Amino acid sequence: MPEVLKAPLVVEFPFTRSLGPVQSAFLTGLRERVVLGVRTGDGRTLVPPVEYDPVTAEEIRDLVEVAPTGTVTTWAWNHAPRRDQPLDTPFAWVLVRLDGADTALLHALDAPGPDAVHTGMRVRIRWAEERTGAITDIACFEPYTGGQAELTGRTGGFEDPVTGIVAPARLDYTYSPGRAQTAYINALAEQRNVGERCPSCRKVYVPPRGACPTCGVATLEQVEVGPHGTVTTFCIVNIKAKNLDIEVPYVYAHIALDGAGLALHGRIGGIPYDEVRMGLRVEPVWTAGARYPDHYRPTGEPDADYDTYRELL
Ligand SMILES: [Zn+2]
Repeated sequence: MPEVLKAPLVVEFPFTRSLGPVQSAFLTGLRERVVLGVRTGDGRTLVPPVEYDPVTAEEIRDLVEVAPTGTVTTWAWNHAPRRDQPLDTPFAWVLVRLDGADTALLHALDAPGPDAVHTGMRVRIRWAEERTGAITDIACFEPYTGGQAELTGRTGGFEDPVTGIVAPARLDYTYSPGRAQTAYINALAEQRNVGERCPSCRKVYVPPRGACPTCGVATLEQVEVGPHGTVTTFCIVNIKAKNLDIEVPYVYAHIALDGAGLALHGRIGGIPYDEVRMGLRVEPVWTAGARYPDHYRPTGEPDADYDTYRELL
């Protein structure tokens, strides 16, 4: 059994969202060092605020100020902070119920160690030096021994409100494709497509996932498929993707490799985009050293009969 592959994988994108009136007031408030919650129909104050009452689903707009001091309701120690986390030294993730609020806010607590943190401890906001109208305007929380801080008396109506934010999303992890896909990827390195056949329904999965999702049994028999295949369906891409050096328009297709029981994805090249069609016979084009075909191009064979791929759309 060859070694199962693993590799680092990062999925990253900026998420742009507009803020409704409640989130706008909350984040603009943070910029002005004011923490706003919202009052629900049953008189509770939610911080962070939401736009709809969680009990009645009514729209709620009644903003109320709460204090920048509060009480830790639960916590977990983060001994190895990761990139872009609120602090670059070990810290506690805490849920803090601010004075005047009925719900707790998730944030970081700057503390020397886990022994210095406990449920029920008093904390206060440490404001960021530069504030832009984001949750990061709260740099973190810090231990606090005084009483409840004074309120500013403001409940909104800020100048130049924040109306949108860009939240970077990033997943950074080690991915292992497992036994079946490791065999598939290793075969691709030799420019071969190897799938697995279900012992029950005989379907050949390419790429293989290790089990047949229909029959619920392991697929162990390896089957080489392709290299030729048939375009079963396709789309014309007109939007240029960042970091992808392909001129638009181009065609992305479902391709059923000969012998495969389902289609895989691939780009179609070597033919004008508006001449690509269902049933077009194609073959992979490899670039030196690549693990995957760069694209598929027409083989020149006659188009496949619809009945030969109608189950593979
Ligand atoms: Zn099956």
